[in-house]
Amino acid sequence: MKKLYEGKAKEVFETEVENEYIIRYKDTATAGNGEKKAEIDGKGELNLKITTIIFEMLQKAGIKTHYIETLNAHDMKVKKVEILPLEVIVRNISAGSFAKRYGVEEGIVFENPTFELSYKNDELGDPLMCEDHAIALKLITKDEYDYIRKETLKINELLKEFFIKINLKLVDFKIEFGKDSNGNILLADEISPDTCRLWDKDTNAKLDKDIFRRDLGSLTEGYEEVLKRMQK
Ligand code: UDP
Repeated sequence: MKKLYEGKAKEVFETEVENEYIIRYKDTATAGNGEKKAEIDGKGELNLKITTIIFEMLQKAGIKTHYIETLNAHDMKVKKVEILPLEVIVRNISAGSFAKRYGVEEGIVFENPTFELSYKNDELGDPLMCEDHAIALKLITKDEYDYIRKETLKINELLKEFFIKINLKLVDFKIEFGKDSNGNILLADEISPDTCRLWDKDTNAKLDKDIFRRDLGSLTEGYEEVLKRMQK
């Protein structure tokens, strides 16, 4: 297979089928735009298993995704899409960059979820981007923005409901969308504790990448706990 792209946590390969890619999940963990980096045995496998369960759940609920099937412990077969250079972030509870930007505590429960975009650009440090700027730079059209926002808030409701059943609060998450050769916008990339903040409902214990970002203990133990609850 020909490698097309290697990112911080995943590699993308071309396959013999024209409209399909293979995504390989790596064991590399990074934080702070790659400033902090480590190899963590088993992380790729855990994220792939978790993403698979979530994409299958979302697809059943009618969300259009790039997911086709998971092939083995490391590889997911997906529809070929061109990833939009936008990080789409939803917040239900204050944390991370939100708490820092506004000088507020983590843990404020919002009455309504917030929706935001960042421009996916490592050199610029993924700056926050408003709707008009994304449209002005022709990254998306107004219709695509409206579709992405609506779809994302639907995804938030589905994820929140899914996680609360296993005693996890969905604090915030980042998703990415891609465009297929017909111009359809599909949910792409991954949804895992690398890209979501998940707090235990009773103790508020962090079961996501903040364990790594903030040196709170074993990352894989946290991710294993999330997977265990999902598999029940
Ligand atoms: N996030 C991500 N990739 C990024 C930036 C953020 O997956 O490049 C996720 C992050 O894990 C969290 C949510 O998006 O669940 C909001 O992150 P935030 O803006 O608070 O940034 P951070 O604190 O991670 O710098």
